[in-house]
Amino acid sequence: MIQPIVIGNWKMNGNLLANETLLEALLSSLEKLEDVQVAVCPPLPYLAQVAQHLKDNPVALGAQTLNEHEAGAHTGEVSAAMLKDLGCQYVLVGHSERRSLYGESDIAVTAKFAAAQAAGLAPVLCVGETLAERNCGDTEAVVARQLQAVVDTLGIEALSGGVIAYEPVWAIGTGETATPDQAQAVHAFIREWLARHSAPLAARLPLLYGGSVKADNAAALFAQPDIDGGLIGGASLSPNSFANICRAAEHR
Ligand code: PEP
Repeated sequence: MIQPIVIGNWKMNGNLLANETLLEALLSSLEKLEDVQVAVCPPLPYLAQVAQHLKDNPVALGAQTLNEHEAGAHTGEVSAAMLKDLGCQYVLVGHSERRSLYGESDIAVTAKFAAAQAAGLAPVLCVGETLAERNCGDTEAVVARQLQAVVDTLGIEALSGGVIAYEPVWAIGTGETATPDQAQAVHAFIREWLARHSAPLAARLPLLYGGSVKADNAAALFAQPDIDGGLIGGASLSPNSFANICRAAEHR
């Protein structure tokens, strides 16, 4: 049995006051939540603030990106060791916004994945197809290519200790969610793909769905056998919605 995980990706939103208000409401709404790992990924400048709020709390801290280099002349960048130092447990790698807006290739994503893992962070590898790719029937090929890039370079066991998030690009921030059947079909494909490399790993690796998950569609998505939780963007900025999504994962 895989413990459900729900991760909130705040993207480039928030400020000191808003973060404090959001966290206070969220942490009180999440009291008594059981058997769900919850994490929030604030923008990098607020990691220390959020870490302070999460002290002695089971909600984990994550970051939205990292640089693959250890240290040195990389102006504006943040290393895996720095994230670890600030108390992060998770880091997103290969989010579609990073891939499409900042040109992160499969090779770059693999390097970031490796750096995160070497520093003891759990990389959340985001994969997913665009609408055009889905309409061409290429969903599985795209997802397999994104997974293969990491496995070819780092080996299948590198995924151990990580998380995979299937996020169809056409569903991210659009209000259009994959139906539970559509999401389950791709999750089942990912599980089978992993099992072809390592059945034990496939059985224990958490597979999250992301793409316009809301309080009113989360339960149906999380009820699917291969969906082990969610990566939540917009709805993670509302404490009530995010807490309700976390509760939907509790009863999966
Ligand atoms: C995301 O940012 O990973 C995401 C899934 O966003 P949203 O929930 O807003 O679609």
